Amino acid sequence: SKIDPLDIWRILKSAGVKYVKPILMDIHGRPRAELMPIDAAKDILTDGMPFDGSSIPAYATVNKSDFVALPDFRSIFIESWNSAKIVDVFLSVLDDSGKPNVLDPRNVLMQTLAELAAEGMYVKMGVEVEFFIVKENGGKPELADDGLYFEGRNSAVLLNPISKILENLEALGIGWSKVHHEVAPSQYEINIPVNDPLKIADMMTIYKLMARDVAGEFNLISTFMPKPFWGINGSGAHTHISIWKDGVNLFESKTEEATEQCRYAIGGILKFARAISVLVAPTVNSYKRLVPHHEAPTRIVWGYANRSAMIRIPYYNKRVNRIEYRHPDPSMNPYLAFTAMIKAAVYGIKNKVEPPAPITDIAYDLKGVPETPVNLGEAVEEFAKSEAFNFLPSETAKAYVEVKNQEWSEYSAVYNWKETWNVITPWEYERYLKAA
Ligand code: GLU
Ligand code: MG
Ligand code: MG
Repeated sequence: SKIDPLDIWRILKSAGVKYVKPILMDIHGRPRAELMPIDAAKDILTDGMPFDGSSIPAYATVNKSDFVALPDFRSIFIESWNSAKIVDVFLSVLDDSGKPNVLDPRNVLMQTLAELAAEGMYVKMGVEVEFFIVKENGGKPELADDGLYFEGRNSAVLLNPISKILENLEALGIGWSKVHHEVAPSQYEINIPVNDPLKIADMMTIYKLMARDVAGEFNLISTFMPKPFWGINGSGAHTHISIWKDGVNLFESKTEEATEQCRYAIGGILKFARAISVLVAPTVNSYKRLVPHHEAPTRIVWGYANRSAMIRIPYYNKRVNRIEYRHPDPSMNPYLAFTAMIKAAVYGIKNKVEPPAPITDIAYDLKGVPETPVNLGEAVEEFAKSEAFNFLPSETAKAYVEVKNQEWSEYSAVYNWKETWNVITPWEYERYLKAA
């Protein structure tokens, strides 16, 4: 049975909601929204929201600027972290013929999942979102605590914003399975429980919005830029993936060895890792994270319980049931990044792509193995010339390449990579500190 939008409206109204914030995702994975009183939102919830695409990157590339977006009632979140009584409703942008528009990244992921579902397959994902909570000093971040990995002191400066973020993850119905102080000072990791990839992407979006607002109340900044400080660990968004067919987890083994299907999926992801890098590690700053000896991958290899490898098999009761892809960072557009990861894994399964042998050594010093692109410029080129370009609808892939080339040329107009690969520039702070 179909949901009647007026029923949703009535439930929201009777729950005390005062404002509706319809959200559409741009090509960078940033939420774009407007706010309206609940009474005025009746039409939008029913007939969709018109918007001017000419001021939103990617949409602006088409010769038409009036779009309509319909609410997706599977993704509604009441903003628990403020007292304004706002409901966030995700939208799905339509094209002229009323079909899902591929410039909307949510539609792209939905389409990917629908194709899989038609073959009896689905994906379960979990994401470990790492981030820093920092003070701001003249446009630059400053560390706010001196905590250690698994810091045990309750007096840690950031306990207040962190506990407020956790309370809100609960109030939002997103939940959290674990939290710990990460290796770098001022850095935390919060794990969002396993779910369907579209839900995870929506939840990650809301979580980032909330975590920024909450830190702001303490005059601090939650930053998801991948490498806010040179010389210490950056922030990853390790993505845990299992692929299921007809109710069976293809990655579940009864032993300590990965199943054949799991190996093939790894083969697929590693085969395309250089090409999809621009989707999972999409910013200029991402490539300053992907450097040796900071627990982020640089060598395109896999291993069991090996944190220097790009794909790690974490053990669960001494068995394998999923893979952990360590390449992504929290600045990714999760809708497009998840699409690419899933397509690469499924490609591997379908084409029986056998990966090279798992490695047990520290990966960073390995010679003769493929490496991650050195910078955003190289990453865009890799994607543009790869078969992986077709993992996205062509209009989406073209628009993505265009905005990423633009981002790279803006940086390159000011800085020379050879001189700045090991410093975090003001340009990056301005662009990513609060937005990535
Ligand atoms: N912060 C590391 C990264 O950039 C990962 C640390 C960990 O293994 O949790 O991916
Ligand atoms: Mg971590
Ligand atoms: Mg991890």
